[in-house]
Amino acid sequence: MEKVDKHNERQRILDEAQLDTLAVRAGQLRTPEGEHSEPIFTTSSFVFEDAHSAAARFAGDEAGNVYSRYTNPTVRTFEQRIAALEGGERAVATASGMAAILSTFMALLAAGDHVVCSRSVFGTTTTLLNKYLAKFGVGVSFVSPTDYGAWEAAITPATRALFIETPSNPLCEVLDIERLAGLAHDNNSLLIVDNCFCTPALQKPLQFGADIIIHSATKYLDGQGRCVGGVAVGTAEHMEEVLGFLRSCGPTMSPFNAWVFLKGLETLRLRMDAHSRSALELALWLENQPQIEQVFYAGLASHPQYALAQRQQRGFGGVLSFRVAGGRDEAWRLIDATRLLSITANLGDAKSTIVHPATTTHGRLSDQQRAEAGISPNLVRISVGLEDPLDIRQDIARGLAAV
Ligand SMILES: *Cc1c(COP(=O)(O)O)cnc(C)c1O
Repeated sequence: MEKVDKHNERQRILDEAQLDTLAVRAGQLRTPEGEHSEPIFTTSSFVFEDAHSAAARFAGDEAGNVYSRYTNPTVRTFEQRIAALEGGERAVATASGMAAILSTFMALLAAGDHVVCSRSVFGTTTTLLNKYLAKFGVGVSFVSPTDYGAWEAAITPATRALFIETPSNPLCEVLDIERLAGLAHDNNSLLIVDNCFCTPALQKPLQFGADIIIHSATKYLDGQGRCVGGVAVGTAEHMEEVLGFLRSCGPTMSPFNAWVFLKGLETLRLRMDAHSRSALELALWLENQPQIEQVFYAGLASHPQYALAQRQQRGFGGVLSFRVAGGRDEAWRLIDATRLLSITANLGDAKSTIVHPATTTHGRLSDQQRAEAGISPNLVRISVGLEDPLDIRQDIARGLAAV
């Protein structure tokens, strides 16, 4: 009896707890073994007490696990923890960030529906909409993210969702979530926010009226580049639909990956604060280097949406970009002269990374699309890791000296 009370009391405490506490504790379940850290349930299926109980679980009349494609205790712990952090009713974990986006679209859209999408989103999201959802009759319009007139103009009677990332990659444009949520709701649509760059440690889009949050857990939720995963967060009603898609179509998160992400979440705020601190320091330094034309980081007073970023975010995150004086050759020379930073398109890692967007992440765009998106040949993007900021700066100074 006492045990049950303690469990309920713990739950009540967590219902009121702050983000740092939720990141460490939310969703945790303890087995009779009494383990302190979360266990990994690597089992494909679960047994039932008797035939009657099996029938009840299959019918959904009895709560409990059935099969790990859609019910797994480790995955559920991760889902409950990220839902608590985002302030959402429920979360559904998926095999990757792209699987979270796909599952959300497949669950909530139908042929004939239309999506308005920010032009500055993860490249593969663009491909998913343009190439695959188009095959099933879902239309899409892409708009310049901070041109609110363009958003309004792109909405049609068939529009069911607006899709954004803020801050955007790689130019750190900050989009007004509250304004776009209002626009979506005035037009019978949902606002879906890919919150990969900020994570709930820095930004909670549901508070500003967003309906669904998407994460590539691969990035900051893990934070140490170990495995691929994703998650969608929203109302119980929407997430029930997303889980239904997962159950029928299968892009499920593995329990091992869920466990890695749980460990990642425990240090999320500490890491995001450190990433933000180092990135701001680096951005301020870069602004004063003669070889640099322009720095893009929402934490700079020179950023056009600095005020909005301060209102909407707790910190400015770890990703920044800049234009080096010159063109592609200068950008490549800078990148090639670094020694500490990893040359990779990945981001949200303890290890700092550097990349040339025009020839990698945005290489598949046409010259015109790249120009419209501001991805010039002299643009370099850095994901600032957890190394000592002085060492990061010295490595970039090595790069600048080679320009
Ligand atoms: C990486 C990324 C994705 C895709 O996530 P995967 O886990 O690689 O499938 C989606 N959105 C953003 C903003 C990303 O950076």
